[in-house]
Amino acid sequence: MVKKTIKNFVGRLFSAPRSQSGPQHYPRDVHQIDRRRVSRHAIKVCEVLAQHGYDAYIVGGAVRDLIAGFIPKDFDVATNATPEQIRPLFRRARIIGKRFRLVHVVFGREIIETSTFRGSAHKNQVTDEHGRILRDNLFGSQKDDAARRDFTLNALYYDPLNEVVIDYHNGVDDLQQGIVRMIGDPDTRYREDPVRMMRALRFAAKLDATIEPATLAPISELAPLLGNVPGSRLVDELIKLLTCGNAMACIISLRDANLHHPVLPLLDPTWKLENGAAFVQLALDRTDHRVRTGRPNSPGFLFAALLWPLVRERWQHYQQEGQHLIQALNDASDEVILQQTRALPIQRRFQSDMRDIWFMQPRFEKSSPKAIRRMWSQPRFKAAVDFMQLRAEAKEVDSVLAQWWMDLANANDTKREDMLDALRGNKAGSGPAPAKRRSRRRRRPSKKHRQTDSHQPDSAPSGDT
Ligand code: ATP
Ligand code: MG
Repeated sequence: MVKKTIKNFVGRLFSAPRSQSGPQHYPRDVHQIDRRRVSRHAIKVCEVLAQHGYDAYIVGGAVRDLIAGFIPKDFDVATNATPEQIRPLFRRARIIGKRFRLVHVVFGREIIETSTFRGSAHKNQVTDEHGRILRDNLFGSQKDDAARRDFTLNALYYDPLNEVVIDYHNGVDDLQQGIVRMIGDPDTRYREDPVRMMRALRFAAKLDATIEPATLAPISELAPLLGNVPGSRLVDELIKLLTCGNAMACIISLRDANLHHPVLPLLDPTWKLENGAAFVQLALDRTDHRVRTGRPNSPGFLFAALLWPLVRERWQHYQQEGQHLIQALNDASDEVILQQTRALPIQRRFQSDMRDIWFMQPRFEKSSPKAIRRMWSQPRFKAAVDFMQLRAEAKEVDSVLAQWWMDLANANDTKREDMLDALRGNKAGSGPAPAKRRSRRRRRPSKKHRQTDSHQPDSAPSGDT
């Protein structure tokens, strides 16, 4: 659908009038942005600013996505008004940011990030020894602002009042041809902000585009510079990458470009495991599907899935060494999380979500109604059930059992009680029955059994946790 939209667009583009110098102005019949798909709050911000004599445009990813046929995640506005001029024009607006001050205009749950055009004066930038920009706070013209943006297809300005797209860098051409092209000298621009390397891969994967050769060339050499970027920014960018709608392509190109070391150092050992890459592929396919159908993806679940093949391998390893099932899982989780967070500081709340999801896995083998009741009141229960479905798809656990839990998670209170009653009377059928048998064995493991048991996680009975 995206391809078709872009293809139709090519025809209109070539028939559009072009000026010799200055930016291109594309009217509605050329860019074909459907105003109904534009946030009314973003339009409102532009309207209010225009009423007060300022220029205001929807910019960046939203314009790119609208032209390419995607539904934008959020809407940003750029204007020639300063933060102090913008703020009093709106009932709920606050100035944020230290490095670059901008305004958040709040409409219920939607925030329209409204920034002043940024200047291009390099002399006023403070950079580190690698050329990374540490501080710059200059306002400028729309042309300056366009030159500061990363890729040509991200430097488009949409005026929703006149329905015109303004393009200084042939971004529309590049977008329709599927080319990710850096504005300016790629080497310098990656040095200024190494995250742009990850962004290049993300836009290429998301738009099914190619990275223009000169834009691609410096990446392999400059890849180590990602290590100088604050971890929190890398986590944010990694999450964006995983939720761009084409996550596996991103992960593969991240690895090919050698950019994965500072963000996902465990990809290499995961790829060496039998079924490691296959599990990640399954998880990311599901993620892409959720993205395309507008459903949320929690970072905790994503990290839990990416790290699971290694956790599982370590879990088996510790059990083979004679550790109790839960202790083995605990040690495996600690080890893998430590290795991951040494490179990238995943937030503690995400780590705790990951653990909740992993630790519920062996407990899904339990059949005691009391234990089940305790589990379903846990906040990560639904995510853990989803995770079990994923494991079933990967043939790690019985799919019938996984379905029983999914049915339970989706059931209303009455249906749940019916399912538990059936379980009590051992009439549950194919779902939880094997779990009950296993859990009885599990409850009183003999000492010898405990020491010599080398369960595989998928068939392993769970201990009481
Ligand atoms: P998405 O929101 O889909 O992740 P986006 O392109 O909107 O993609 P944002 O991080 O929201 O990305 O940034 C908005 C715009 O700001 C971009 O389209 C681009 O023009 C500019 N921009 C963002 N990050 C950078 C950067 N690192 N260097 C230069 N320009 C950037
Ligand atoms: Mg954006």
